Amino acid sequence: MKKVRTRFAPSPTGYMHIGNLRTALFTYLIAKQNDGDFILRIEDTDRERYVEGAVDVIYKTLKQCGLQWDEGPDIGGPVGPYVQSERMGMFKKYAVDLVDKGEAYYCFCDKERLDTLKAQCEAEGRTYSYDRHCRCLSCEEVKAKLDAGTPYVIRQKIPTEGQVTFHDELYGDITVDCTELEDQILIKTDGMPTYNFANVVDDHLMGITHVVRGNEYLASAPKYNLLYKAFGWEVPTYIHVEHIMKDKQHKLSKRDGDASFEDLMNKGYLTEAVVNYIALLGWAPKGEEEIFTLDELIKEFDIHGLSKSPAIFDPLKLTAINAKYIKKLTPEKYMEYATPYIRQSVKREDIDISRICSLLQDRTEVFTDIPEKVDFFDKLPEYGKELYVHKKMKTNEENSLEALESIVPVLQGIDDKDWNEETIHDKLFELIAQKGVKNGVIMWPLRVAVSGKMSTPGGAVEIAALIGKADTLERVAKGIELLKNN
Ligand code: GLU
Repeated sequence: MKKVRTRFAPSPTGYMHIGNLRTALFTYLIAKQNDGDFILRIEDTDRERYVEGAVDVIYKTLKQCGLQWDEGPDIGGPVGPYVQSERMGMFKKYAVDLVDKGEAYYCFCDKERLDTLKAQCEAEGRTYSYDRHCRCLSCEEVKAKLDAGTPYVIRQKIPTEGQVTFHDELYGDITVDCTELEDQILIKTDGMPTYNFANVVDDHLMGITHVVRGNEYLASAPKYNLLYKAFGWEVPTYIHVEHIMKDKQHKLSKRDGDASFEDLMNKGYLTEAVVNYIALLGWAPKGEEEIFTLDELIKEFDIHGLSKSPAIFDPLKLTAINAKYIKKLTPEKYMEYATPYIRQSVKREDIDISRICSLLQDRTEVFTDIPEKVDFFDKLPEYGKELYVHKKMKTNEENSLEALESIVPVLQGIDDKDWNEETIHDKLFELIAQKGVKNGVIMWPLRVAVSGKMSTPGGAVEIAALIGKADTLERVAKGIELLKNN
């Protein structure tokens, strides 16, 4: 069987759209699950869209996501060059071959004639399509014009009747009437190929067996097919994937700052989680499991699980998946990622950051949530008495005041050198036993007093140990004052 070769053919636009990254991922998975090659080809011929440094964004993102290519501009390979603009000289001879085979023709129509045609169509309310004027020129006429140096383009000879059918793995057979297709330009006046032509020739020359791309290319696929047929080349397997939408009506767009891989990195998501989530956009695994590493995806991914309806990007689901990946990080890795976020809020040097990390890890969904979760360590926020009222903990303002007042001497009695979680815990539990109350009656008011919050990483004991004796007592005193004030 022929070796599977897939390609990712991005245009360097300066950012990696999530939809493109998903195409890269699917393409990579198909290659790897068939022991095939994954090829990177940069399609940079649209110079107007060209952005400096954009190719590096592609390299960097693919590498970061683990999508290592087997052949590409930077590492070379047997069918290079892998940058389309460096291949430009190669295409014309293929077009001339088609002319010789009677599958394409020289067209000498100048701009003026085409403009008149367009204006005519517009006036008659028809969509413009080239009228195939030069298709019937005789060999002699063509030769004379070529000899005279008349500028020309080369156009594809689309059958004037009948239908063309192409097969897409996802959409099945799609049939189009040939009359709907224009004799598209293959080679422009400057001798350079059009994008559609270069794309087909490149895929063939690079031995590509599977083409995965966005379904905005679905409409061009019949013309591509006719080209393969005209050359007598084997048509690759097509898989056109649906768009990724923000909601039912809107595509994910760059403008909204939520469409690119970089946007998601800036929002504090882990690379592995993003790759995992992107795989699920438009693809449904066979079983219930949705958490897959890249290696697992290679085994699990199946093009038959792809969906024909647009995938909606769901930040909540991404967040849930991200949280699972964060839980699985080693404490060291977690600390490496989390510390810069903790440090945005916690500037105190006397705080044990690794302890904050161990308290935070299980409750981190995205790293960007961290600064707000730990801001109370540096400075007790303003808070209201109502935080002391907790039904489940059985606390109200009165018994909270009583609790805090009874906690003060207990904490004061702990030696500075013994100020640690274990001692604080034991002493507080002695107090609880002595008073014969539920744990919450003591612990809840203390937690509110030291944090000024309803929800914190760690409880009263851990926070008190972290902020130290003096600060704890100061915060408890503030709580007492607040509760006393009516
Ligand atoms: N260069 C095209 C794009 O970035 C890819 C088209 C294709 O994969 O055939 O949209």
